[in-house]
Amino acid sequence: MQRLAEIPFPEVERIARTGRALVILPVGVVEEHGAHLPLGLDSFAAEVYAEAAAPHLEEKGYEVAIAPTISYGVARAAIDFPGTLSLEPETLRALVVDIGRSLARHRLHRLVILNGHRDLSHMKALDEARAMLIEEKTAQVLCVGFTNDPDLTAACYREGVPELSRSVRPDREGHGGEWETSLALYSFPDLVKQKIAATLEPNFNYDVDAFRGETQDYWSLSGGRGYFGSPQSGSAETGKKIVAIRGRNIAQVILHAWGPAK
Ligand SMILES: [Zn+2]
Repeated sequence: MQRLAEIPFPEVERIARTGRALVILPVGVVEEHGAHLPLGLDSFAAEVYAEAAAPHLEEKGYEVAIAPTISYGVARAAIDFPGTLSLEPETLRALVVDIGRSLARHRLHRLVILNGHRDLSHMKALDEARAMLIEEKTAQVLCVGFTNDPDLTAACYREGVPELSRSVRPDREGHGGEWETSLALYSFPDLVKQKIAATLEPNFNYDVDAFRGETQDYWSLSGGRGYFGSPQSGSAETGKKIVAIRGRNIAQVILHAWGPAK
C-alpha cells in the first residue's frame, strides 16, 4: 500500500502501468463528536479503514494507493457546534469529480470513495460524483463506508460490529457513542479527552428517527451534548476489533463489485 502524496511520480507511473491500480480516496468532515472526541474523527476513521482494507485488496492482486483525504464535507446537522464546518454539496461533488478526472489522466481508473461521515446530503453528493465519473467513462468508481445505499453501508460498517457492543443499548449507539469512541481510543488515543469521556452519561433517550432522518439538528436532539449512545462503553480493545472487521468488510464489498485484479 502506498500513499499517493508520499511517492514520486515514476512510482505512480509504475503502479498505473500494472493495470491493477486501485486508488482509495478517504472522505471525512470537520464536525463535533461530543466533548471527548476530535472534530476530525470521521476523516481519521476513513483513513484507518482504508489502511485496514488495503492488505485484503493487495492479497487479491490490486496495487493500492491511498489518496490524500478530503477532510471537509457537508455537515448540516451539527453546524451549531463550535468548529463544525460545512461545504455546500455541490462543492464536495465538484472536488471529488476533479480528483477522479485527474487520477484518470494518469491511467488510475479505479476509484474507491471511502466515506467516514454519515450525513444525507454529504453521501448524496459523493454518489452524484460517482455517477458523473462513471457516466463520462472517466473511471470505475465505488462508494463505500457510509453511502446513500443503506444495505451497502451495513455491509461495510454494521456487519459483525453490534455483537461487540458493551453498551446496554447497542441499538442506540451512534454519533460520538461507543463505537466511535472505541475507534478513537485504539487508533488515535492522544486525541481523546479520556477524563471527560469518563464523565459522560449515556444518551439513549433521543429521537432515533429524527437523528437518522436528519429532521432535527444534533444540538437540540442531544441537548447540546453532541453524542448519541454511551462513550463510557468505548474501549481500545473494541476499537481494534472494529478496525479489523470494517477493513475486511470494506474489502469484501469492493471485491464483490469488481472481483480480484487481473
Ligand atoms: Zn462520526
